[in-house]
Amino acid sequence: ATPMALLVGTARGAQLGILIKGPQILESTRRVDTILLDKTGTVTSGRMSLAEVAPAAGESEAEVLRFAGAAESGSEHPIARAIAAAATAAAVVPSESAAQGALPPVESFASTQGLGVQAVVDGRLVLVGRSAWLAEQWAVDLPDVLERRQAELEAAGGTVVAVAWDGVARGILSVNDTVKPNSAAAVAQLKALGLRPMLLTGDNERVARAVAAEVGIDDVRAGVLPAEKAEIVRALQADGRVVAMVGDGVNDAVALATADLGIAMGSGTDVAIEASDLTLVRSDLVAVVDAIRLSRRTLGTIK
Ligand code: ADP
Ligand code: MG
Repeated sequence: ATPMALLVGTARGAQLGILIKGPQILESTRRVDTILLDKTGTVTSGRMSLAEVAPAAGESEAEVLRFAGAAESGSEHPIARAIAAAATAAAVVPSESAAQGALPPVESFASTQGLGVQAVVDGRLVLVGRSAWLAEQWAVDLPDVLERRQAELEAAGGTVVAVAWDGVARGILSVNDTVKPNSAAAVAQLKALGLRPMLLTGDNERVARAVAAEVGIDDVRAGVLPAEKAEIVRALQADGRVVAMVGDGVNDAVALATADLGIAMGSGTDVAIEASDLTLVRSDLVAVVDAIRLSRRTLGTIK
């Protein structure tokens, strides 16, 4: 294609809501044969809502939510937003419990990508994250009854995180997300264009399988850490595949930069957008289909 044709293609992309970082990117878009889709915020809306607080024996639901909400208030993660919003809403409601009120003060905060957060809240070290992270990194185990409840909530499609302070598990929280209305149609069209889709997520296997089934993806990698997302990209490339990765989070940035074509959701974090070659203004996966069709048309591939 001539430089002029590439420029016209890039401008047409912008009209379709696809921001392309440079005209030459249409070439890598055309060659893609494998597409990795992040789950949370990419295939799903990423607007999570709190579904359940299950306190450990002797703990109050309100306390668990308050401390978890305070610890999560420093995180941009969809899980964190859901928990912080629910805790804030609960704190402003005049309550029977004298212990309630505004969220307790947070003195320091740190997050570990794909695992969870830690914060000093009201003088206590609070942890919120994957139960495996609490167990392996902090030697905090869930009591059996909460482990069983976690399995039930996950079987129902929930994303479950554990809450601990002062080295003791205090409860679990389950949040729910919904698949975006266009995700299944987009996956069907990507397959029709000859691409092989795969779902990648740091979330648990049960939720990942449920979302994959809902949108028509068979190939699922669940429980992967951010660095492992990039390793999966490299392994596929080593197999000769030309890989596109679609994501929105800080946890997707390395994989987006590693992929032959990185595609960010417009609603995504700045880090994801900066690491990507294409940005989907409307955060709708159908725009990925448009981008591939556009590249094939612009570069004269018959399909
Ligand atoms: P995804 O790949 O679906 O976008 P992430 O890699 O961001 O998921 O997160 C994977 C898992 O790590 C989550 O399902 C959760 O268990 C845990 N996690 C990550 N960030 C947080 C957080 N801010 N609070 C609690 N748990 C978290
Ligand atoms: Mg995501």
